[in-house]
Amino acid sequence: MSVPRYWRETKYRYRLVGEMCVECGKVVFPRGAVCPGCGSADLEEVKLRETGRVVTWTVVRNPPAGYEKYSPFVVGLVELDDGVRVLSQIVDVELDEVETGMRVEVAFRRVKEDGPSGIIEYGFKFRPVIE
Ligand SMILES: [Zn+2]
Repeated sequence: MSVPRYWRETKYRYRLVGEMCVECGKVVFPRGAVCPGCGSADLEEVKLRETGRVVTWTVVRNPPAGYEKYSPFVVGLVELDDGVRVLSQIVDVELDEVETGMRVEVAFRRVKEDGPSGIIEYGFKFRPVIE
């Protein structure tokens, strides 16, 4: 990934930003060109809730290239409190402590280091809410 593209997208990596359909009110994430609910292209940026719960999850033991040093890790489907579902790594938790329905919140973490260019990408992950 080139540097300009990386920085152009930074805003969306550091905040959970989705879109809301002006026509039908559906919240869309990741951002798309049209509303999957009604097909309208009239979408507005909307900040998503940063807490939710784990719907389902799995342990990844054979990660894709660039993520080897994080193996094994947990990837979960998280339903945010506004109903949007996000697939994300779940951090700060032992593999045997993850459970369905667990409360989680957004944590911004290093995602991967981009080879010789030395660019470190950050993105959102989720961690358990300490209650
Ligand atoms: Zn719509």
